[in-house]
Amino acid sequence: MGTTDVDIVIAGAGAAGLAAAAAAADSGASVLLLEAHETFRSGSNTSMSTSMIPAGGSRWQKEAGIDDSPDLLYGDIMAKTKGKADPVVARALSDVSPRLVEWLADDCSVPLELVTDVWFPGNSRLRHHCVPDRSGRTLHRHLLDAVSARSQVTLVVPSRLTGVEEAKDVLRATATRPDGSQDVILTNSVILATNGFGANEEMVRRYIPEIADGLYHGGDGSLGDALRIGESLGTDTASLGAYQGHGSVASPHGVLLTWTTMMSGALLINSDGQRFQNETIGYSESAVNVLAQPGSVAWAVFDQHIHEKAEPFADYQDLLTMDAVKWVDDVETLASWIGCAAEDIGQTLNTARRSALDGSEDPFERSNWAHTLEPPYAVVKVTGALFHTQGGLMVDENGGVLRDGSPIPGLYAAGGAAVGVSGDSSYGYVSGNGLLSALGLGLLAGSAASARLVG
Ligand SMILES: Cc1cc2nc3c(=O)[nH]c(=O)nc-3n(C[C@H](O)[C@H](O)[C@H](O)COP(=O)(O)OP(=O)(O)OC[C@H]3O[C@@H](n4cnc5c(N)ncnc54)[C@H](O)[C@@H]3O)c2cc1C
Repeated sequence: MGTTDVDIVIAGAGAAGLAAAAAAADSGASVLLLEAHETFRSGSNTSMSTSMIPAGGSRWQKEAGIDDSPDLLYGDIMAKTKGKADPVVARALSDVSPRLVEWLADDCSVPLELVTDVWFPGNSRLRHHCVPDRSGRTLHRHLLDAVSARSQVTLVVPSRLTGVEEAKDVLRATATRPDGSQDVILTNSVILATNGFGANEEMVRRYIPEIADGLYHGGDGSLGDALRIGESLGTDTASLGAYQGHGSVASPHGVLLTWTTMMSGALLINSDGQRFQNETIGYSESAVNVLAQPGSVAWAVFDQHIHEKAEPFADYQDLLTMDAVKWVDDVETLASWIGCAAEDIGQTLNTARRSALDGSEDPFERSNWAHTLEPPYAVVKVTGALFHTQGGLMVDENGGVLRDGSPIPGLYAAGGAAVGVSGDSSYGYVSGNGLLSALGLGLLAGSAASARLVG
């Protein structure tokens, strides 16, 4: 290889970039980690997340007696996407998942624990690992600490990767500062960890028009830079219509109401006092269903039991602080809060109650009720939102970016920059696969990029 300024340039200091940086440094590489946005500690997608990382067969699962494996995780991903997830990436992420969570805990000191009190849509096993306060900001802080502790990594903020060119057997990366001044860096490898294009309105309208008018509730740095850079190099792309949506973001607060509420028995009711979907389908595909209701809003209705299930989530605590969770004693007050007729919502609650108690058929085919609601009722007004896009640059099992089906030497992508494992729309998103793609491909790409040096 030719002379370089640094072994690896990584763009983006979210979960993908930080995992890649730590993994590459541990294999002895020198890393320049560029982060474009000074707000990344609170404004990256990772810091906005609830820190749920799925794994199939971790030591925590074994200790809890949960029989899981990479094969089962792979099967769940394929089932939810109706076979449309990229099989190579899905296989690689499923296989690396137990090693990933153990590496995060042991080598990066991320205090992970297994979630045993909540089932997430699309997962046949209890397999989510998270930090104790279930806050992405805490996860992000631990990842940043892990990278700061590695002297081979230099983090530069703000500095945006604006171009990558192939130059004989090295890559030429261009980093641009906010004042427009630029550095050109010669490097062996570039890892694109810049997330997707959710914050780029024009791209969202072009690739995912169905969610373009919904709320955007994701990182402000997700401007589609990986796609732009990939395009300049002629890379392959896939699944650009795939995304993680969410059907319960409190409105107008713009804070997530955890889907744990739905999985524990909550109902989604529109301004006519009617339900409109099975609340236990994925939260991702629920976004467009909520946006299709009058005023593009709905009300999540639950009770004390479900409130207690949501309490461990940092986002839910934020909602309580913001007074976004209203309590009403009876159906009449609930109706006046929502603005519908008491008879209508009364009938809706009764029908749901009957299905929950005696198993009578639900018009929306909900079979998992978990719990029947008891007054007083908690009510939160919600809307549908886009959280992040899941399509991106085609990669191989190491995160190597493909052009005409073959890896471009030294170019990698991870997280929202790369093709995800959600198929081609919103329904394929299995809870936790955003961070699995970010951290998993980050670990694989960081290791592969440093292995090239030895090679
Ligand atoms: C409310 C919410 C809850 C969620 N909860 C979960 C969850 O519990 N589990 C789960 O799996 N997923 C969850 N997700 C999805 C998850 O957040 C993302 O899939 C994941 O964080 C993406 O990580 P990333 O590293 O690819 O992107 P990010 O974390 O967004 O990091 C990308 C970074 O790149 C920077 N950047 C962009 N362009 C450039 C450039 N050209 N040069 C340099 N830097 C650049 C950005 O500023 C940003 O800091 C959630 C999302 C939201 C919004």
